Amino acid sequence: MGKVIIIGGGAAGLACAVTASRLGDDVTVLERMDRVGKKILATGNGRCNLMNLHAPVYPGGEAFARQVLQAMPTEKQIRFWHSLGLFLREEADGRVYPVTGQASTVLDALRFGFRGETVTGQEVIRLLPGKKWQVQTGDRVFSADRVVVTGGGCAQPALGSNGSCVRLLKSLGYGATALLPALTQLTADKDVIRGLEGIRIRCLVRVMEGEREIHRERGEVLFTAYGLSGVCIMQCARYADVLGRSISLHLYDALSMSEENMLGYLKGRQAQLGEAPAERLLTGFLVPRLAQAVVRYAIPECKSVADVKDKELVRLVRALGDFRIGIRGIKGFDSAQVTRGGVDPTPFDPSTMASALHHGLHAAGEVLDVDGDCGGYNLMFAFASGILAGKNGRKASWEEE
Ligand SMILES: Cc1cc2nc3c(=O)[nH]c(=O)nc-3n(C[C@H](O)[C@H](O)[C@H](O)COP(=O)(O)OP(=O)(O)OC[C@H]3O[C@@H](n4cnc5c(N)ncnc54)[C@H](O)[C@@H]3O)c2cc1C
Repeated sequence: MGKVIIIGGGAAGLACAVTASRLGDDVTVLERMDRVGKKILATGNGRCNLMNLHAPVYPGGEAFARQVLQAMPTEKQIRFWHSLGLFLREEADGRVYPVTGQASTVLDALRFGFRGETVTGQEVIRLLPGKKWQVQTGDRVFSADRVVVTGGGCAQPALGSNGSCVRLLKSLGYGATALLPALTQLTADKDVIRGLEGIRIRCLVRVMEGEREIHRERGEVLFTAYGLSGVCIMQCARYADVLGRSISLHLYDALSMSEENMLGYLKGRQAQLGEAPAERLLTGFLVPRLAQAVVRYAIPECKSVADVKDKELVRLVRALGDFRIGIRGIKGFDSAQVTRGGVDPTPFDPSTMASALHHGLHAAGEVLDVDGDCGGYNLMFAFASGILAGKNGRKASWEEE
């Protein structure tokens, strides 16, 4: 029991607040925005993909994330949500959503499950350790036995998290890696993607440095006015953010055909199509605008199928398997879903999120240098670590079988 101040009313902070208050702590949540949980409402396109039942995927801070999820595995998280009256539904690829399909149901479950005080419009600017912690905002000072820092990273600052909590922990001597946008879109050279805006295709995506493959993903790609979007593109962003790297799309990957088979297939089509425009060769598996772009990219000199000789056909097949798009950069924090980098989690105990360096200090969620793929992994880490910080080694009633 004791006075607990939670800095940040986001996913980790609210999960912590519910847990600690139910265990009898006197909890105050300090939130810099005019209301808590703004980012939760924006997650999963407003549906809140809050967990994933498949193997965890954390390109940043994987080892620490796994330890946290061992201490608070998905079965226990599900029990936590059920204890708040929230029903869940599993969808494709292990993604879990509230059964209502509304992120607001998740936020309401947390808000109504919290038995404590919430003070909004209070940005914490200073933390002073001592027998009692002093937590300073612009115009007030709060004191507490325990402080839990859950202010998130820098992704989409309009929704609340602005990197200030990383700075708070750094001011107490904690190490931190640079904050960078992750899970964000790519801006691309316009010449290759001209006219493709709005087209979606499922394909193999590879991040390339010259002819060296750096990373690969399979999934949907969306062409946009500025470049490329879609889940697998967002997951490529961290690898594509290096000068000179490009994206290679394998446009017929979904057909499970070898290059030789594709060549044979196109030769057959060639015989049938005669004088038709060259892009007609591809209309059986690419939408017309994409077919035109591939022809323009690979064999611009061929206007009709009749112009396509053997060596042009080989070039066309190569381009279909390696449609290369130069990358200008990645979109910034205003578009990113998560922050890469943050406070080094090493001093924090992954079963309680307590610091080994300061008695009574905890950190949870995205403020730490942990980031996951799309699919519910980031909220899952935030909720799991927030619950553990709230429990602080105690057993919660909902954990019983
Ligand atoms: C558009 C979008 C969609 C997303 N969709 C998904 C999804 O479907 N599934 C998924 O797993 N992840 C998703 N994410 C990522 C996920 O939302 C975050 O990883 C998660 O919210 C991090 O939780 P957190 O509690 O650490 O930080 P946040 O949720 O960012 O909360 C931090 C809170 O602290 C407050 N705060 C910050 N600094 C201070 C301070 N100094 N004083 C007081 N208050 C402060 C902020 O205002 C904020 O309310 C999405 C992110 C975005 C932006």
